[in-house]
Amino acid sequence: MSSITKAASICSWPQKFYDTIRPMNPVTGSRQFRFIPKGAEIGFGNYFYHGVVQEQGGICRNPVYTEHRDLLQKVTGRLVHHADRKLPYEAILTDTGVENAGCLPGGKIVFCRGLIESMQAETRDFGLGYIPLEDKVAAVMSHEMVHAGARHGARTLEMTLCLSVLIYVASQVAALAFAIFFVHYLRDPIFLGYSRSNELESDRHGMKLMQRAGYDPKAALWVMHLFSTTHPRTGIKWFDQIILYPMDKILSTHPAPDDRIQHAEKTLALLASGKLK
Ligand SMILES: [Zn+2]
Repeated sequence: MSSITKAASICSWPQKFYDTIRPMNPVTGSRQFRFIPKGAEIGFGNYFYHGVVQEQGGICRNPVYTEHRDLLQKVTGRLVHHADRKLPYEAILTDTGVENAGCLPGGKIVFCRGLIESMQAETRDFGLGYIPLEDKVAAVMSHEMVHAGARHGARTLEMTLCLSVLIYVASQVAALAFAIFFVHYLRDPIFLGYSRSNELESDRHGMKLMQRAGYDPKAALWVMHLFSTTHPRTGIKWFDQIILYPMDKILSTHPAPDDRIQHAEKTLALLASGKLK
């Protein structure tokens, strides 16, 4: 290696180091600090996967739901091909009538059969015209895939770890009262804001993913309209009972449905005009 090549190689170290600790998020296109590597992210997902599947009714093997299973696999196969970030995405249909879906870090997605059944049974079109069931399933799937692709679960874990260290340091150098104040008054706003932005990010990039895969992104708007209505069986709003993301089970972290619908309408207009791809 010549001395010039050697010098150029040494000069590129700071950039390489920066790219390692603050890489570009392939979904959002913005740089973010990262200290949980991809392998660990997938490992976390695998570790929690079995428990989450059991919580959501276990793997659905009933032949009655073969059609639903096949539909889920078909949609996953199409979306995976167009995902911004390559991960071992995998969707499992679980055996519960509860309307629920969620994604673990690393790309494992749990989809309850109750959610497909309810979307299939719903006759309202919310003024959006006919939308096939496959596109509605793709709307939920793409939203969940973006949670994993954009590292929402991993970033939440990173923030939790950082916060734990800060609390520990604060409790060592200052009065315990400060640590208690920090936990009660600062933690919730941080995570509330963070999780709301995650949801909107997943909505926006999920709709982009749908369009790339040849699905109608309007289906995402249909799903949001459905969730903002009252559930016919329980009599309470869908959004108040559904958990679309098991990593943030605090339902108040989800943006208000109307807010979400407004954002989705803007995204839809940008996608239709070609300003967003
Ligand atoms: Zn979500």
